[in-house]
Amino acid sequence: KRITFSGIQPTGIPHLGNYLGAIKNWVSLQNNKSESELILYSIVDLHALTIPKDAKMLQKSKIETTIILLACGINPKKCLIFEQSKVSAHSELSWVLNCITPIGWLSRMTQWKTKIQEQKNIHSIEDINMSTGLDLGLFAYPVLQAADILLYKSTHVPVGDDQVQHLELTRNIAEKFNKLYKKSVFPLPQTILVPAKRILSLKDPSKKMSKSSPFEFSRISLTDSPEEISQKINRAITDSQKGISYSPDTRPGISNLITIYSNFTGLTTEQVVNKYKDNDNKMFKDSVTEIVVTHLQPIQKEIEKLKKEEGYIKDVLKDGANKANEIAEKNLKEVYAVIGLCN
Ligand code: ATP
Ligand code: MG
Repeated sequence: KRITFSGIQPTGIPHLGNYLGAIKNWVSLQNNKSESELILYSIVDLHALTIPKDAKMLQKSKIETTIILLACGINPKKCLIFEQSKVSAHSELSWVLNCITPIGWLSRMTQWKTKIQEQKNIHSIEDINMSTGLDLGLFAYPVLQAADILLYKSTHVPVGDDQVQHLELTRNIAEKFNKLYKKSVFPLPQTILVPAKRILSLKDPSKKMSKSSPFEFSRISLTDSPEEISQKINRAITDSQKGISYSPDTRPGISNLITIYSNFTGLTTEQVVNKYKDNDNKMFKDSVTEIVVTHLQPIQKEIEKLKKEEGYIKDVLKDGANKANEIAEKNLKEVYAVIGLCN
């Protein structure tokens, strides 16, 4: 049976990277799913604790993120949407998996390094190691992520390209568990990637666009006004080379804008370049702005509508958690039996 799981952190308003790299694909997987396929999309609030923030902000972010998912087309009749912390088996399985995950595997992950680098404003990633003010939660969160996925015996995980490494880790943990207890409890989940791969920061195209970056100008949030979108795209770092060409290695900034344009319009990057090759940066940026504004408009309209329906949003989350709990409890029970924790 095909079981699809994915998550999004309530760490801020979702941005173009989240949309083009993940949410858009979530919607199409949901719309093309077979009758028997189960799809779970989680607001992973326990993960959000790895970057400390105000309790009220976190609460607000959870509702906002849910509203945005629904506005983008996620349909609670076709999949389960729920808060991770409302299904306690995520934490419980996470502990079990912590006990079989070598620290060496986690130290090879790159996300915690990138996050500490931004948090503490450290210049070079080479200067970051396990004693650079690293909290255990940030270091271990890929194990919680493995638990999120394996708890439902998921077979498919649609994520952006920044998560490929964590999915590999998830498969390694699942394999180790199955071998250790001589029972294939967990299927090895497949990563589903979209062609968009990763959308880069508008401020520093050597980094990905992120919700948790302290620089508001580095990302376009799905709720940004046309004026904000235009300002941010105009300020986006590009280069002084003449004309428009696609070369992610040598012209990452302009190539990122081409990728964004291409993803919204369905044109290939070559087609976009052909259309705009003689434009200067400013002209091309104006065209990108227009495309982004036009495509976000219907989503933003829907967001405004859903903002007035907080009761409905809460019901959706509650219903999702109830259904997720049913599956999670059954699977956790099986794990507990296999490892010797049942009565
Ligand atoms: P944070 O900075 O708090 O980690 P984030 O922007 O990385 O936030 P997540 O909630 O961690 O967002 O990720 C949600 C989904 O969006 C994941 O599948 C992730 O791979 C995808 N994603 C995040 N950033 C990008 C990006 N810049 N380009 C493409 N996909 C992305
Ligand atoms: Mg992230």
